[in-house]
Amino acid sequence: MEPFEFVTPSSIEEAVKVLASNGDKARMIAGGTDILVQMRAGRRTPSVVVDVKSIPELNAMSYDASKGLTLGAAVPCYKIYQDQTLAAAYPGLIDTAWLIGGIQIQGRASIGGNVCNAAPSGDSIPAVIVLNGVCNIAGPNGTRELPTEEFCTAPGQNALENGEMLVSISFPAPLANSGANYQRFIPRNEMDIAVVGVGSSVLLDASGQNFVSARIALASVAPTPVFAKEAGDSLAGKAVSDEAIQQASELAMAAAKPINDMRGTIRQRIHLIGVYTRRTLNIAIERARGG
Ligand SMILES: Cc1cc2nc3c(=O)[nH]c(=O)nc-3n(C[C@H](O)[C@H](O)[C@H](O)COP(=O)(O)OP(=O)(O)OC[C@H]3O[C@@H](n4cnc5c(N)ncnc54)[C@H](O)[C@@H]3O)c2cc1C
Repeated sequence: MEPFEFVTPSSIEEAVKVLASNGDKARMIAGGTDILVQMRAGRRTPSVVVDVKSIPELNAMSYDASKGLTLGAAVPCYKIYQDQTLAAAYPGLIDTAWLIGGIQIQGRASIGGNVCNAAPSGDSIPAVIVLNGVCNIAGPNGTRELPTEEFCTAPGQNALENGEMLVSISFPAPLANSGANYQRFIPRNEMDIAVVGVGSSVLLDASGQNFVSARIALASVAPTPVFAKEAGDSLAGKAVSDEAIQQASELAMAAAKPINDMRGTIRQRIHLIGVYTRRTLNIAIERARGG
């Protein structure tokens, strides 16, 4: 690993100043479970590493049943899934927080770090997209918001401009008759990169028999996580049925543009997107009905 300066700002303003004055040479560290591995392998060689652990806003979680959740970018996964209120309000977020790595990784790894790392396989990204997560960004010109589906721009690259950092992710309050689920396919049970991942969320009408709206997002099947908007939109206004779910899964398969690699083939991945879209939609529906 190359030598680097380690900076520990205690405020967003201070962090932004360090980032802005060092440009590409600076890199943030939250849990370090991606960046340290990449630095050791020589894939990233920052000369300034900016630790976010002392910035209060990045380490805070605030939830209000009417306003929703603001999740600090550096909050580790274990804090999310150990929170009983969040577990009840956002089971679709808990699905992903408890499957990123093993227990040691979950003690450090953050959803913010997973999103900023912008891996096509990042397990939290589809889950955050289908929950309508919005990225709260701070930079030299103030703050801005960006829907998570617009955040990842290429493998390992995100929409942050020079001097900008992710402060938190905001989620709207869960609506009555809504539910979400994230699942991935991996050949063994943990600590592997997803062959495919699918997140689905649904909003049903009061009878629980009709879709009001739905969102579907995919991992590991394109250079960035995919928001399969057409697939989700196809369900709006339809009765909940196997046919409607099948049709949405076919649209999700069409939105996937995977490659062949050592983890899976194009054919297998497209097939799995169909299977996991149906599976996650059915669980989201069950949760929306209170199951
Ligand atoms: C053994 C092991 C198993 C793993 N298993 C999984 C898995 O199952 N699923 C999965 O998706 N990932 C997995 N990962 C990858 C990693 O753990 C996750 O991506 C994790 O969520 C990253 O979070 P972090 O807080 O450690 O990020 P860090 O490593 O601290 O940062 C990740 C990237 O984001 C940038 N960054 C961090 N915070 C900010 C910020 N606030 N603003 C701007 N940029 C920022 C950093 O500069 C870096 O480029 C695994 C890693 C290991 C080592």
